[in-house]
Amino acid sequence: MKETCATCTKRAGILKCEGCQGIFCRDDMNTHRNELTQQVEEFVGELDKFQETSRVANADLKSSWIFYIDAWETKSIQKIQETAKEARQQLETMIVSNDEENIGNIHKIVEQLHQNQRDGNYDERDLVIWKEKLDKLKEIVSKPNISVKEKKIESSFINEIRVNERDVFDQTCGDVHIKEENQLACHNFNLFGSHGEIRGKREYSNGIHRIRLKIETLDMRPWWFFGIISKSTPMQSNSTKSLSAYGWAGKNETFMNGQISKNMNGYIGDYLKDDIIELILDCNHRIIRMNNLRSTKSYELNVDLTHCPFPWMIHLNLFHIQTRIRIDP
Ligand SMILES: [Zn+2]
Ligand SMILES: [Zn+2]
Repeated sequence: MKETCATCTKRAGILKCEGCQGIFCRDDMNTHRNELTQQVEEFVGELDKFQETSRVANADLKSSWIFYIDAWETKSIQKIQETAKEARQQLETMIVSNDEENIGNIHKIVEQLHQNQRDGNYDERDLVIWKEKLDKLKEIVSKPNISVKEKKIESSFINEIRVNERDVFDQTCGDVHIKEENQLACHNFNLFGSHGEIRGKREYSNGIHRIRLKIETLDMRPWWFFGIISKSTPMQSNSTKSLSAYGWAGKNETFMNGQISKNMNGYIGDYLKDDIIELILDCNHRIIRMNNLRSTKSYELNVDLTHCPFPWMIHLNLFHIQTRIRIDP
């Protein structure tokens, strides 16, 4: 028995479609083929449409992430520009202070010169003294006291930039010593603890100066003093007792005029290893200020020039054996 055509079911099916196994008469086979061709064409159309859709989706993906990267770029550049601006301002302030310091020192010599010229009472010895003073100023100016350093940050591919005012430790008295190019102040080995004074090298009489100190190590119950002292005050191991000692110490102690005050203006001696402390000497307003960059605590002392005349010097006093303080870290 012959099969009939799958489409018309009347005529005999004489042609078999291998694709769907259907049997068709000649006419309907043609129709069947035409339908298939149309389906293939539709599929090609769908493929084209999908190609376009995927192109648009990809383009959208790109533009949304480009937007993200652009925003990151803008934000990062802004941050860098702000940091650079801040560093330039800090440098400017330090340069102005340097100028003020120099002009002030030159004025002092000029004043003496004029005084003696008016009185007519000077001789070769005075000239020698003035020349020595000028030579000393020349020596100070020849050594740059400002540095700009890049600091690597572990997690960042961009380095931080810092403008530093430089000073080094210079003189000691008592159970302390200085090392590493005069940048590290250390206590000597003495289990029972004992006082020792350390002074910086520079003299401050004019302008505003910002010196950084870093705590490299501290003892369990830390006591250390940092601040200023007048150049005119003799060195002594118990230097916080000196009349011209102004500054802050452990155990919530503030020192002024050789006197200890506890918790003055809410002062808390909160220090940890690796803390960086900014010591600001504002000679113009006769104020010293400290900022602990970690705790963001900040304190200020008014300096009485009758007790602590210019020039001022950086002044540390260490008591415990493990205390180590770095200057200009
Ligand atoms: Zn048929
Ligand atoms: Zn078929």
